[in-house]
Order: sequence, then C-alpha cells, then structure tokens
Amino acid sequence: MKAALVDKPFGLDRLSVTNVPDLRVSDEEVKIKVAYAGINPVDYFIISGSRAINPVPHIPGTEFGGYVEEVGSKVKGINKGDRVIVYPRIFDGICDLCLSGKEHLCRNGGLIGGITNGGFAEYAVVRYQNVIKIPNNLNWESAVSIPVAALTAFHALIEADVKPGETVVIVGASGNTGQFAVQLAKMMGAKVVAISSKPWVKNIGADEVVSLNQALNALQRVNNGRFADVVIDSIGSKTVERSVKLLDIGGRFVTFGALTGISARMTISEVYSKEIKIIGVTGGTRKEMLRLIEIASKNEIRPIIWKTFNLDDVKTAINSLFSRERNGRILLKIAG
Ligand SMILES: [Zn+2]
Repeated sequence: MKAALVDKPFGLDRLSVTNVPDLRVSDEEVKIKVAYAGINPVDYFIISGSRAINPVPHIPGTEFGGYVEEVGSKVKGINKGDRVIVYPRIFDGICDLCLSGKEHLCRNGGLIGGITNGGFAEYAVVRYQNVIKIPNNLNWESAVSIPVAALTAFHALIEADVKPGETVVIVGASGNTGQFAVQLAKMMGAKVVAISSKPWVKNIGADEVVSLNQALNALQRVNNGRFADVVIDSIGSKTVERSVKLLDIGGRFVTFGALTGISARMTISEVYSKEIKIIGVTGGTRKEMLRLIEIASKNEIRPIIWKTFNLDDVKTAINSLFSRERNGRILLKIAG
C-alpha cells in the first residue's frame, strides 16, 4: 500500500510517499481504508521528531477516518464497510485515569500517529477501542475534523466550564481548533470575541472579530465594559501575556498549545489579585467525541476548509500549515 513515511533523523524533508508492506490485523484490531485525514500542528511536531515516535520508519497522521476493511476475530459490533473515525489516544482502560473517564490522560497512553503508525496512508490498523462509527449523513470533511480539532476545542470549553451569557475570547480563531472553539462556544450560549485577521470568522458565529490589540475595545462592546470570563489561547509565547490581561476577576485562562513558543511571561500579582484560574487541557474523551458526532450530524458545527490535497502531496499539505495565506483547515483526501 501507499503511505507517507518519515525516517531518521526526522523532519519534513525526511518524509516521502512510498510503497510499504500491507498491514496485518491482530485479533483486537480493525483495518481501515482511509478516506480523509486532517492536518494538524501535532503531525508537524511528530514528523519533526519533537514528540515520541514509534515505529521508525513511521507513518504519521493522527486525525483520520474511513471505511472498515477488515476486523480481527475478537472484534464485535464493527463490520466491514462501516464508516468510522479514530479516537486518537491510545489508552489501557485500566489505570486510575482511564477508570475515571479520563482516557486521554492514560498513564500508559500516547497519540495514534505518534506512538503507533497513523493515517496518512491508504490503510491504517488501529485497536478496536479507538474505532467510532459515524452516521451516513455526516460528511467526511466534518467527520475527520472531530478527533483532534473539534475535540480539543470542545474539551477546552468544557474544562473552562463556559456558561450561557459568559464572554469567551478565542485567540487564533481561524485555526484548526479556533474555528471549532468559536462555533461550540456560541452553541453553549457564550458571547465570542474572536482574535483573527480573517473576516469569515464572523460567519461561523463570532460576535466580534478583531486583532489582539483591539480586544479590550471589543470586550467593552459585547460585555458592557467588563473583561472576559474565559480566554482560550493556543498560540503561546507571542500572545499569552496579553491574553491574560483580558480576563475579568475570576476569569479562566485555557491553553492547549504553544505554536509560537513554549515559554511566556505572566504577571503573578495579576493572576492572584483577580483569582485567575490557569487551565491546561490536551485532547478530550471518547464521550466528548460521541457528543461531537451528534452535534456535527445536526450541522451545528462545520469545518472551514482552505485546501484539500492528495496523499502524494502530503508534504505540501503539512508545509501549508504555516503559510501566511492559510485560510482554514487543510485536509488529505485519500479515498473519498
Ligand atoms: Zn489508562
């Protein structure tokens, strides 16, 4: 089969599309004919070798879905031809975190496409526990935006405990997670100030679309002169210090990424005098993913897609993540 393959010493220039031996399916695994895959910053970090990576050479691809091709002898309830997406976290199901419904934090876990081969290939084999069926009316573009992009945004809003009427600032609102954070925060009844240079963010529900420097003025307009209840910022070094200053007393700052760098300044007295909560999140749970499938099936959220590439063009697709012209999600269409 054809697959994107990266080898030591890693990096995008060590990624190529090549023929690899067909995958074999063990008793508890499912083989998927990959239909679509989403491109996310995490794929870039894995390919660059800055995340755990196994096996080597390695097939990346953390966010994908497709048609069930074959199931192992012990797999029940999943059949050939089913349309499925893949929950991207490996989990053991038996540690204290798994048992409390936090399988995304499993003590023996990791990312599919990172600690296992992933979905940038014609076929992928995953454990049946990670396979989730989707309804026929859910299109592939929406479906493959759930496992990483929408799930991360949804989990962030849930952990921030966003309530109706609250004001949420989303930094990087046109990005993979940002565009879903805007739509899901609106769905939860919040007012949304989107930090983005893309005017279309207004079309997916943002009350205001402004630059970070204009955010205070925008908050004045939507929140009667009060600051934000929640700020979601996955941009990192470049924005965090200014993001925290947008929070009202008791506000919550949520981070799940650091695209522009992993260190940031924060004024400690600002954090304690306003009783600001700092919340870190990563991924989300299978239960949240099931809820997102329902929400997306009712067309309450949808991805804004900029470009769709073939598997052969995977390198260009990943490079485009950092293009200045980027204007929405980047997907791979492998089999439609
Ligand atoms: Zn576990």
